[in-house]
Amino acid sequence: MKRRNFLGAAPAAMLAAGKDGIETEIVRVKLRHTWTTVMSSSDYRDTLHVRLTRDGITGRGEGAPIVRYHESAESARKAVESVRGFLGTADLRAFSKVLGEVFRRIDGEWAGKAAIDIAVMDWVGQKLGVPLYRYFGLDARDAPVTTFSIGIDTPEITRQKTREAAAYPVLKVKVGLETDEATIEAVRSVTKKPLRVDANEGWKSKEEALRKIKWLEAHGVEMIEQPMPAEMFEETRWLRGKVNIPVFADEACKHPSDIPKLAQAYDGVNIKLDKCGGVLEAYRMIQIARSLGMKVMLGCMISSSVTVTAAAHLSPLVDMADLDGNLLIANDPYRGVTVREGKLILPDGPGLGLRPA
Ligand code: MG
Repeated sequence: MKRRNFLGAAPAAMLAAGKDGIETEIVRVKLRHTWTTVMSSSDYRDTLHVRLTRDGITGRGEGAPIVRYHESAESARKAVESVRGFLGTADLRAFSKVLGEVFRRIDGEWAGKAAIDIAVMDWVGQKLGVPLYRYFGLDARDAPVTTFSIGIDTPEITRQKTREAAAYPVLKVKVGLETDEATIEAVRSVTKKPLRVDANEGWKSKEEALRKIKWLEAHGVEMIEQPMPAEMFEETRWLRGKVNIPVFADEACKHPSDIPKLAQAYDGVNIKLDKCGGVLEAYRMIQIARSLGMKVMLGCMISSSVTVTAAAHLSPLVDMADLDGNLLIANDPYRGVTVREGKLILPDGPGLGLRPA
């Protein structure tokens, strides 16, 4: 078999390698629709991109800072700059050791750490000549369907967004306000598809959450994410015993050490590279959640195809994916993971397999 046939496609446009060293760049990604959740409303997001070049190979990374955890693109950039000297001379083939040292040297700044981890893992995959999913021993055909997210909006815009999402077999709808029932009714006036719902900590008492979930269950909703604030652990445990759909932790689940306690109050966890600090940490979290019998979702923030593709390479390991951050933006600089009839299609190039958009 010829190599190009083995790779499954005509030779792709390659991304040029830079000079040896590390470059950081804050990239403003522009949203197709104003993006509103319980937490915020915005037309753009700033994410930090990292390009790490060694031996003629450039690894690309990205981290989307999370305001809830007091991060910004600038604070992520400072975190990366603080380890520039260390990374410039580290032996990247010992990437597990190198990233362990990066985690010790940087306090917090998980998006900054994710940008470094993703750049290093993209470099490693290219150096070894394998797509990242193959490095982890996964089968790309096991990649799940991704949901497409519908942010909070007026019923009219919600109907329009639902029609625009016709290609996606499962939708994830943002709720957590007094308008929840109107939002779901607007979606249901357009489609009968399965719905997953994310309250982003919006319901403030267990009674309110129970009432809302019972209503949602009657409207074909198949899971609920972070119904109440992360700190309302006992209330969530109570709630889980009274509802029929799985309850997932998102804002409550940041790091591997969070998961054993969460197993007592939630059925599953939403793991994001930007929250935990990258591919290696997300892989550990998936294993821990699995060992506790929990369901696993891979999620993302609003970002380009760099972070979303990195997460997608682990997606054959999980039950559900919400990897649509790149689909919600209008100026993605790269093309990586794609979606066909809702299913994630992993690129076959080495490392992340990114190409120019
Ligand atoms: Mg969420």
